[in-house]
Amino acid sequence: MKAFEWANPTTIGEAVKFLKSASAGSDVDEAARPIAGGQDLLTTMKDYTTRPARVVNLKSIRGLDRIQGNAKTGLTIGALVNLTQLEEHPLVRASFPGLAEAAHSVATPQIRNLGTVGGNLCQRPRCWYFRLEEVNCLKKGGSECYAATGENKYNAILGGGPSYIVHPSDLAPMLVALGASVAVVGADGRRVIPLDKFFTSPNENIRRENVLRNDEIITQIQVPASPVAARSTYLKFKERESMDFAMASVAAAVHLSGNKTVAQVRLVLGGVAPIPWRTLEAEQFLLGKTLSADVLAETARLALKGARPLDKNAYKVPLAQTLVRRALAKAGGMAA
Ligand SMILES: Cc1cc2nc3c(=O)[nH]c(=O)nc-3n(C[C@H](O)[C@H](O)[C@H](O)COP(=O)(O)OP(=O)(O)OC[C@H]3O[C@@H](n4cnc5c(N)ncnc54)[C@H](O)[C@@H]3O)c2cc1C
Repeated sequence: MKAFEWANPTTIGEAVKFLKSASAGSDVDEAARPIAGGQDLLTTMKDYTTRPARVVNLKSIRGLDRIQGNAKTGLTIGALVNLTQLEEHPLVRASFPGLAEAAHSVATPQIRNLGTVGGNLCQRPRCWYFRLEEVNCLKKGGSECYAATGENKYNAILGGGPSYIVHPSDLAPMLVALGASVAVVGADGRRVIPLDKFFTSPNENIRRENVLRNDEIITQIQVPASPVAARSTYLKFKERESMDFAMASVAAAVHLSGNKTVAQVRLVLGGVAPIPWRTLEAEQFLLGKTLSADVLAETARLALKGARPLDKNAYKVPLAQTLVRRALAKAGGMAA
């Protein structure tokens, strides 16, 4: 690990100044990085994937670790709320059940106790070519995505190219399905970014996975009150039952009208694309339909219509289709 300076700001403004001043005049892309739980940042620093000269500790700032709101106004989640807090919060469990399920699906209790919501959304990809210190892949400034023709069992089947990473966060697809936004503070002030505009695909920016600037930090995640929140669910398939990242996952949020037809729906795939993958054609198809086995099968087909599997990951297509059917059946109250 490269030696680095440690900064303990006590306010958001101070944290931004620490980030900005390290970046000014530096030709290093990430001269300073914020740290929250540290579980991902420290690993990437040990692998030399990230080499910040300064690490800015967000945990010395008070007040970023609260969940506030109610089912009528929506949720405001501080960036330092940990995943255990999220999965155990009574309001989240009762009114945003998919979010509690997504948080619960992450790793182990120890990791959930330490990992924060902000850090979970900003964690780096798990592609082993990206993580290996010795490999200079496309995302690290090299000339090739080795996953494209190499060991690509865990890589993207949708939206890939020129890099085939998948986004590792379980919270991200669910929060996109719930229509959430992030509040961000940087040297130029505060902005609120809808999460479906926050994540960036490799062909927009090969080095980054989101639109945050070097001096910006997420301070809050805002989840609006919405008719789909109460019928939300998150289903994830992982290789090891004990703990693992998603090979495929589905975040579904549905609102049924009085006659049991679909009035609103959001269906977002995880573990299959470089960004949380919204399935707009499938969502459109579902509107006005009564959920039935045939409707679920066609929805699943449409959700994966654009899939372009690599040599070793075609299994993800039927896997994700099955999860789509099951998630919709569960959210819609059908027998699976
Ligand atoms: C063994 C293991 C298994 C895991 N399995 C899963 C899994 O199945 N599903 C899943 O979703 N995750 C999984 N994770 C990831 C884990 O949830 C993340 O490590 C954690 O959420 C990151 O949170 P953190 O607070 O530790 O982030 P940190 O390591 O502190 O930060 C991660 C990144 O986010 C940036 N960052 C942190 N906070 C902010 C902020 N407020 N604003 C801007 N940037 C910020 C940091 O600079 C860094 O780049 C796993 C991790 C481990 C170690």
